Amino acid sequence: MEFCPKCGAVVMQKGTNGECLRCGFIIKGKVNLSISEKIEEKKEIAVIKDNTLDVRPITDEKCMKCSHGKCYFWTRQTRGSDEAETRFFECVKCNHTFKQYR
Ligand SMILES: [Zn+2]
Repeated sequence: MEFCPKCGAVVMQKGTNGECLRCGFIIKGKVNLSISEKIEEKKEIAVIKDNTLDVRPITDEKCMKCSHGKCYFWTRQTRGSDEAETRFFECVKCNHTFKQYR
């Protein structure tokens, strides 16, 4: 069993850079135990909901929540132009909103 030297948590699994998944401290091997911290930018995966749009087309998308077969849909370009367009769906029945990358 391994413990994170910084936060003291039991390290069951390390991140891709060998960091503690709890505090982000990079746990190095026995040699060269340098104190280097990596601040990870967490990407916000928030569903952008535009309530100003009253008229949205309805598509035959299956709702991920209630399996209803009709959803409103709209698209939005997120962040840089090099990123793919994101499609948003909102269930007609239960109003569950989700997004999909194509
Ligand atoms: Zn639904």
